[in-house]
Parts: sequence; C-alpha cells; structure tokens
Amino acid sequence: MKFILSYLGQLKGRLAYAMTLKFSAAIFELLLPRILTHIIDEVVPLGQIKLVIYWGLAMIAVAALTAFLNITANRAAVRNAKEVAFQVRQDLFEKTARLSGTRFDLFTLPSLTSRMTSDSYNIQQFAQTLQAMCIRAPFLMLGGIIMMYSMDVVLASILVAIIIPLGLFIFFVSRKGIPLFNIVQEKLDTVVRIMRENITGIRVVKALSKKDYEERRFDQANEEMYRSNTRASTIMALPGPVMNLCLNAGLALVVYVGALRVNAGAMKPGVILGSLTYFNTILMSVMALNRIFIMMSKASASANRIADVLTSPEDQQILSPEECRKPAGDELIRMEQVNFRYQEGSGHTRDGARTLALKDISFAVREGESLGIIGPTGSGKSTILQLLMRFYDVKDGGVFIDGKDVRSFEPDALRRYFGVVFQNDIVFNETLFHNIDFGRGLTTEQVDAAVKDAMAADYVYGLKGGLDFVADIKGANLSGGQKQRLLIARSLAGKPRILILDDSSSALDYQTDARLRKTLSEKYQDSTLIMIAQRVSSIKHLTHILVLKDGECIGYGSHEELMEGCQYYRDICEAQMGAME
Ligand code: ADP
Repeated sequence: MKFILSYLGQLKGRLAYAMTLKFSAAIFELLLPRILTHIIDEVVPLGQIKLVIYWGLAMIAVAALTAFLNITANRAAVRNAKEVAFQVRQDLFEKTARLSGTRFDLFTLPSLTSRMTSDSYNIQQFAQTLQAMCIRAPFLMLGGIIMMYSMDVVLASILVAIIIPLGLFIFFVSRKGIPLFNIVQEKLDTVVRIMRENITGIRVVKALSKKDYEERRFDQANEEMYRSNTRASTIMALPGPVMNLCLNAGLALVVYVGALRVNAGAMKPGVILGSLTYFNTILMSVMALNRIFIMMSKASASANRIADVLTSPEDQQILSPEECRKPAGDELIRMEQVNFRYQEGSGHTRDGARTLALKDISFAVREGESLGIIGPTGSGKSTILQLLMRFYDVKDGGVFIDGKDVRSFEPDALRRYFGVVFQNDIVFNETLFHNIDFGRGLTTEQVDAAVKDAMAADYVYGLKGGLDFVADIKGANLSGGQKQRLLIARSLAGKPRILILDDSSSALDYQTDARLRKTLSEKYQDSTLIMIAQRVSSIKHLTHILVLKDGECIGYGSHEELMEGCQYYRDICEAQMGAME
C-alpha cells in the first residue's frame, strides 16, 4: 500500500484536482433526492405548473452538473492511474536492465514479464478506483444516512438496520474470496507459461511428436485453473444477488412502512421516494467500498511483487582499485583460476546450478590476438563470455579487461569494449538500421560498412527499403542465415575492441563463413576476437584455442599444438573431417 501511495504522492496536485471534482459531484448527487422530495411534498401541492417546471429544470441542471463533474473527474483519475502504471513500468524496466545475471535468474523471465504487465495493470486499476471512490463512497454513504435521518427517523432506522449486516456480510464474503482469487492468479500463470512454451516451441513440439504430451500437460493446468476459478466464483457470486434481494426487500419495506406512516400523517409521501433513492445510493457506496477492498488486496500483492524487484539489492558494486584483484599480466583479456557456479534455487533446474560451470579456468589474450573456444554443449563456453562482460561476478578467481578487474569498471565503460553476437540473439521489431545501430548513434557509413563486412549487403539491399526494412518480432520475416548476418553486422558496427561471436557462424554456409573469416582477419585486425564455434574450421586459424569439457580446460594452445597434444581436440577434428568427406 505504501508503495502505491508513494507513486500516487508524486502526482499530488493532479490527484487533488480529480478528487475535489469527485467530491463536488458527490455533494450534488446527495442533493438530488432532497430536491425531488421537496418538489413532491412542497411544490406539487401548490398546484402551480410553472413552479413545478422551474424546479424540474433546476433538478435537471444539478443532474447535468453532477454528470459533467463525474466525467471530468473520471478522466483525470484514468490519466493519473495510467501515469502511475507508466512510472512503475519505467522503474521496473530500468531496474531489470541493471539486475545482475544472478538476480535475473532468481526472478526468472516470465515472472519479470508478468510483473511488468499484469501486476502494473492491477496497480493502475486500483489507483483509478481509489481516486474515484475513496472519498466519494464513504461520503455518499454517511451523507445518505444523515439525509435519510433528516427526513424521517423511523424509515431511516429500518433501512440502516438492513444496511449494516448486509455491509458486514459482503465484507466477510470478499475476505474469504480474495485468497481464492490469488490462487486462480497463480494457476493462470502456469497456464500462460505452458501456452508460451508451446507457442514459442511449436516447431520442436510438432517435430518430436510431443503434441499429445503437451496437450495433457496443458489440459491438467487448465483444469486446475478452471476448478479454482469455479471455487472462487461460487463464493464471489454471493454478494451480488444477496445485495439485490436486500435492495428489493428494503424497497418493499420502505413503501409499506412509508405508506403506513403517510396514512397516519407522520410524514409526507415524497419522503418515501427520497428515502428509496438514498437507500439505493448507500448500497451502491457499500458495493464500491467493497470493490476498493478487493482491488486493494490484489494491488498490494502486485505491489509487493514489484517492490521485490525494485528494492532488490544491487549486488554488483563497482569496486575501488584497492578492493580489486591485481592481474599477473596486463593483456586485454585475462582470466585467472576462475571457478564459477550459478546460484542455486535460481528457478533453473539445470545441473549448472549445482555443479561448477567452470573449473580453474585461466587464459590471456593480447590486443589483436584471437581466441577460439570449442567444446560440447553445456561445457561452459557461454559462461566464459558472460563472466568477461560481468553478467555474473566470480567469487573465486579473477576476470580482467585491459589489465583491470572487471568489477572496477562502470557498466557502460565495460560494455563499450564489446561487440557481441550471443547464441539465440534477438532481432528487434525495428528497421534493420536500428537493429544494427542499437542506440549507439552510429553513422550510416559505419552501419553500411558493417553490413558489407557481415556479408549481409546482398540481401539487405535486395529488401524493400534496404536498411529501412522493418524486421518482424524476433526477425520472423528473415531467414536464419539473414538474421545471423544482421546480428554479426550489429557486433561489427563501430569496430569494437573485443569482438565476441558465440556460435554465430552455425547458420552460415561454409562459403560465407570462410569469407567472413577472411574479412575479419583483413579488416578487423585491431579487434581482439573471441569465437565460440562447433566447427574446427571456424577457429583453427585463431591465435589460441581453448578446449572445454564439463567446465574444465582440457586443452589450450594453437591448432597445431592441440593437434599434437590434445587427444580430445584431435578426435573432434577427425570426426568433422570425416563428416565433410
Ligand atoms: P555452453 O555455452 O558450452 O553450451 P553454458 O556456459 O551455457 O554452456 O553452460 C554451462 C553450464 O551452466 C551448463 O550446465 C548449463 O546448464 C549451466 N547454466 C548456464 N546458464 C545457467 C543459468 N543461468 N543458471 C543455472 N545454470 C546455468
């Protein structure tokens, strides 16, 4: 709650405006039944049609003014609520971008996405209802009761006797129902997750004939959601009809008791109509208060989930030179005796969380040299890259760039060293130019050169609009090879000091791969290249080659040295030569 209020507090002036309008509307709303009673009891008996019309017009004017105030206030409330959600999303996005890899793993991607979407939407809904109702509903309720008492004490007491237990009943039912709705939300998360997995992995699901299995998994999750939804709805369906029943019973009672009292000369008939209207207004206010209560518990659960992210500690501090490790050499890239383990309980069920992903890894690459990394899937190749770019911090060993501990760099300064293509890297739903420039403010010449060097010129300039061609989400309107070349262009653009290509030539044919290698060695001698590859042919010409297996270095040296001294490397080479023959 405090969290939401702190965001609302930033809009103090605008909030006051919306709520003052809403309050003014409520005052007029409260006057309306009173005017009606006055017309019936005082004006009509005078028998002057002109006077009746005059009062009637006055009533219409008050009603119109009320509507105008309500509409203006609601629009202001919607705007404010959207602004709150916008700000929350913005803060979440910025914080997410700063999260360390470890924190990111702990929160998990789907959960961060739902915090940014449905949780911030819950807050928006609540902020909107709160502005519209938090003053209006109690005011109308109390004001209505006072107005009823001011007209007729007996009738008012009867109605209040109905309202109080009804209000309590609705409150307790909601309190019971809310936790059930939270369960529904959790089940819904599961259904959405399975749906997402299946839609994004539809090809592999079909290819491996996993359709039946996936359908069963989905049916089960869907069934659970259906059941918990039914349970929650059964309870939450109670207040509406009960309220209607009480409303109608109350109305009948008012008419009956009212008629008796009018006959006995204790009150005038207009009071019956006035009391009925107030009764209705009060019940609506009770329902509105209840709605605020329901939304509040939903929104505060959402707010907690968002606050968890926003207040999660920045676990990657920038260290002063004194706190850092000193490297034994000042090469551009250096790793010293790194042992690294991914955090346990990170939501990953992969073995990496339990075992060491890297064991005692050391290597050094000078400016202008190059390093190839080869090894089976899961051997720790990508982990090395993530450590160089400080997505994760090592606790045991040291990682150095340009002779300095990576922990001593400002994040932007560190990332500026790198041009990188990751495995499964993303093409954004943007023009090709923006996909390559990526907010770095590169010139057209720089982008153009990168496109040519990435062997992408033929297809890019063959597309309608060339660099202005808009890629679909995840580059769905480009082929695998085209996407890959676009990503390579992104990494080459601006000639980074360290160029990292993580298995990026796998989608290229041999010929393009060979041409790319030639271009890199001719035009990018100043960039220090790190290349992860499945094919020995992609890396055999590089200065150093690191052979990894189960996170361990089982060979390090040039191609020739490894052919000499590393049986495992020789085996890979022979297997691949065999495959090519
Ligand atoms: P490679 O790039 O050689 O395929 P990785 O460096 O991606 O291998 O992974 C090395 C090991 O660490 C694997 O066992 C993998 O499952 C595990 N791993 C990778 N990323 C994570 C992560 N974010 N959380 C937990 N374990 C991970």
